Amino acid sequence: MEKTLVIIKPDTINRGLVGEVIDRFERKGLKLVAMKMQHLDDKILEEHYAHLVDKPFFTGIKQFMQRAPSILIVLEGRRVVEVVRKLAGVTEGTEAMPGTIRGDFSLSVQNTIIHASDSVESAGKEVERFFTKKEILEWDKIDTEVIYSDTEKE
Ligand code: ADP
Repeated sequence: MEKTLVIIKPDTINRGLVGEVIDRFERKGLKLVAMKMQHLDDKILEEHYAHLVDKPFFTGIKQFMQRAPSILIVLEGRRVVEVVRKLAGVTEGTEAMPGTIRGDFSLSVQNTIIHASDSVESAGKEVERFFTKKEILEWDKIDTEVIYSDTEKE
């Protein structure tokens, strides 16, 4: 089934909102298949945010992302990339819809609570960037039968 990468960012860890955020993924029915805590160094941030390295605010992003560790998660589910982007809400916290993670917990365009892969293609690359194959666990989640129809759970 489709996978996506989520980074629970340092603002979330410092504010004690890790459980709140993971709770939303679990309540939706998504399956956790990998998780670890890590300090993100310059090299991995420059790779991960390659589309932003030339922006004047990139130094600020790096400082923000290095203020505390991050929690890296791989989630699995039907159309999970799109689902998690919707759960996250738009980047600018003041514009994110109430009910979304950023809409409920962020007032910033920089301190955005989580990162979520923005396409199936980038999800594949991002999962590989942060996890080895061995770290992605295969397991049977017992509520799969009641979350999906027979044709949806492949
Ligand atoms: P998203 O995280 O919603 O996919 P982007 O890929 O555009 O959004 O940006 C990645 C991250 O860079 C954002 O989550 C945020 O932490 C930071 N960022 C984006 N735009 C700005 C900005 N204008 N000023 C400061 N930080 C920003």
